[in-house]
Amino acid sequence: MRTDPDPIRTEPFRYKAKGMNAGEGIMPYCLPQAKQRCRMKKETGNRKKREMEIYIHIPFCLRKCNYCDFLSFPSGKEVQDAYTLSLCHEIRQTEEYLFQGRERSEAGPREDLPVRSIFFGGGTPSLLSIYNMERIIRQLNSSFPAAKGAEISLEANPGTLTEEKLSAFRELGINRLSIGLQSTEDRCLKMLGRIHTFSEFLHNYRQARDLGFDNINLDIMSGLPDQSLSSYLETLRIVTELKPDHISSYSLILEEGTPFYRDEKLKARLPDEDTEREMYEKTGEILADSGYDRYEISNYAREGKECIHNLGYWEGVPYLGMGLGASSFWREEGKAMRFSNTTDLSSYLETPFKDFPVREDFCQLTRKEQMEEFMFLGMRKTRGVDGKEFEKRFGFRMEEIFGEVMDRYISMDLLAREESRLFLTRRGINVSNRIFSDFLLD
Ligand code: SF4
Repeated sequence: MRTDPDPIRTEPFRYKAKGMNAGEGIMPYCLPQAKQRCRMKKETGNRKKREMEIYIHIPFCLRKCNYCDFLSFPSGKEVQDAYTLSLCHEIRQTEEYLFQGRERSEAGPREDLPVRSIFFGGGTPSLLSIYNMERIIRQLNSSFPAAKGAEISLEANPGTLTEEKLSAFRELGINRLSIGLQSTEDRCLKMLGRIHTFSEFLHNYRQARDLGFDNINLDIMSGLPDQSLSSYLETLRIVTELKPDHISSYSLILEEGTPFYRDEKLKARLPDEDTEREMYEKTGEILADSGYDRYEISNYAREGKECIHNLGYWEGVPYLGMGLGASSFWREEGKAMRFSNTTDLSSYLETPFKDFPVREDFCQLTRKEQMEEFMFLGMRKTRGVDGKEFEKRFGFRMEEIFGEVMDRYISMDLLAREESRLFLTRRGINVSNRIFSDFLLD
């Protein structure tokens, strides 16, 4: 009998603030794949040295999957060309807006704000033509050149990749691929509405390896209709044999507005909560035995292959999101703010003809909201949050603000402390949504 207060498949915890890309506060199906460290440490004169990240949203997919509520849709070549033009314009405008009056070095990142990661998420960024991808990357190189050794990720779906594309993406500087596999069973792929078969995925995966991609994430899903524990474990077994560098395993959530949500009969075909919990626990065990470290609730990596970009989301590194519906988090002069772009494609396509019109939903975070975010985003990581960092950032001890809720969950063995770190226990991970929501201050 279940005794935990909050099963894994309960409503995902959704933070009230607008302006987060998927992957920050919730568990999406297909992380805009959107992973190490906020390094606001070195001082340059009186100024703190810091880093930033860039998220580029490509909203196009060949076909909509049955479970997907991301901002994505099918489109023709003309729309993709126009979108690329708007996106390049937005990147240019953002540069002008942000760096007005600041010194710009000849080449390479601005001294005080190096770009540590760029993430092309979607949608299906790998659907873009080589020509359009090249235009976007050229513009980024000019406006926001990535720092040496930066992680440059691209979400890719089998069925949209060719050897020519993979090779061109690599030459353009993409050094990490995040491939949406979801399942090794064609039956499941078909039911999910995916455009590919397992053998098509395998072909692309081997091509990518042969071309030298040495940092590849595979997305897989659990909790699918008619999926038994053994069939999920078989997917996991096959995936580990392929030795990807990183694995993201997400549990299916029925999102409003999707065909899956509308299908009343589907709910009866989902694995029960105990089975789903076992899937989650076995995932951790099997991946640990295969050399993957769980560094976040749903993310597992070989040593040194954690996703720098996503870690930045959870550690409060400022990022700029560009493209339709993309969200940003920015700090300037002691203030923290979130904002996002319009989700209306027609408005977005007018971007080159308007003056900075695409941003909306500006929201300046209060001190209290920043503290909340520090806690519930940071605790997604298995190493949790650092009390010293909290004190440095906010001028209060973590216990002064969250002492009551910390003590309560520590006594229930759902949170634990190790020196200055506070983190979810194994049991706590299973009920993380409940715990996170208790870190919202009244
Ligand atoms: S490929 Fe990803 S973004 Fe596109 S429809 Fe499917 S789940 Fe959504």
